[in-house]
Amino acid sequence: MTMTFSYQGSAARIVFGRGTSAEVGKWVETLGCRRVLVLSTPHQAGDAEALSQRLGALSAGVFTDATMHTPVEVSERAVARADALQADCVVSLGGGSTTGLGKAMALRTDIAQIVVPTTYAGSEVTPILGQTENGVKATLRSPKVLPEVVIYDPDLTLGLPVGMSVTSGLNAIAHAAEGLYAPDRNPITTMMAIEGMRALRQALPAIVGNPGDATAREKALYGAWLCGTVLGQITMSLHHKLCHTLGGSFDTPHAETHSIMLAHTIGFNAEAVPEAMAPVGEIFGGTPGQALYDFAQSIGAPMALKDLGLSEADLDRAADIATKNPYWNPRSVERASIRSLLQNAWAGHRPPY
Ligand code: NAD
Repeated sequence: MTMTFSYQGSAARIVFGRGTSAEVGKWVETLGCRRVLVLSTPHQAGDAEALSQRLGALSAGVFTDATMHTPVEVSERAVARADALQADCVVSLGGGSTTGLGKAMALRTDIAQIVVPTTYAGSEVTPILGQTENGVKATLRSPKVLPEVVIYDPDLTLGLPVGMSVTSGLNAIAHAAEGLYAPDRNPITTMMAIEGMRALRQALPAIVGNPGDATAREKALYGAWLCGTVLGQITMSLHHKLCHTLGGSFDTPHAETHSIMLAHTIGFNAEAVPEAMAPVGEIFGGTPGQALYDFAQSIGAPMALKDLGLSEADLDRAADIATKNPYWNPRSVERASIRSLLQNAWAGHRPPY
């Protein structure tokens, strides 16, 4: 077998381990920064305040209005606040929404970013930013939005509710699964995808059994890092296109949508590229789509789009939008097959593949 590939590693510093969030100040200083703005959602404002207190003189303040889908209006307010406080660094404490805010600020100002992730979304290691303006979400890729330092402290995920742990973990698995057939995959992304899926396969059931299992939390966050890194390096296909369509046009929640769609999209594509997708079947046990469906069900994931408030009538429009400007995909994307895939996902049926 011949091998031809192009690989670019990320320049970001990854710090991983229990208790490492205590080192945020050290990393601020290593970056040569002096005035930090701590970012969070309103829900995690207390944690952001506590981090700001711990940073002492290095903290210039907190901004706790991070919002799902990165509205441009919020990003502009955050930039104005950073300017007013003469901040030279943001510390984004939270999930993909908070990370998105820090990235949107870096896009506009090049401000240094340290991310302390508390979910498994993976945005902290991708050059991807989705922003919303006037109700329309647009996604861009730019090296400018890549954080300088990511501090993965599994202790910060001990309180991530089980339901969110499950959906966020499946969201991470989706990044890795699409990485296995991406046209720009390489041996490193494939290795990371397999290792990341394996880690989450082991960790998520353990977390469901005991959310305070520190070893399982560590493994899940390790898997999330790997899966996110894969997403940052490859071209996304049908799975992410359908999730972006559903989230963007029908406002379905991000991680739940990924969780439900995963088995259907990966199963559909695996029929066209069985060799590339064999690791999914091996890790989850069965044919890729059915194995992922059974796994999601076994850990109590949401299984049907109809439970996210999507009506059956929405499926026609979703199929139209998703097939109008499709992303590259290993299997041809035709409206009829996508409509039938969506029907299965809407009803929560086990995929036929
Ligand atoms: P989120 O960041 O929106 O978090 C959901 C809620 O959970 C928030 O209120 C948050 O404060 C809270 N939360 C987070 N961690 C917690 C914890 N440990 N304990 C208790 N509560 C906690 O959710 P998400 O799924 O991480 O991120 C979704 C967003 O990220 C979407 O907008 C999505 O588009 C984006 N995203 C972007 C990329 C990318 O590469 N650009 C990748 C994945 C996701």
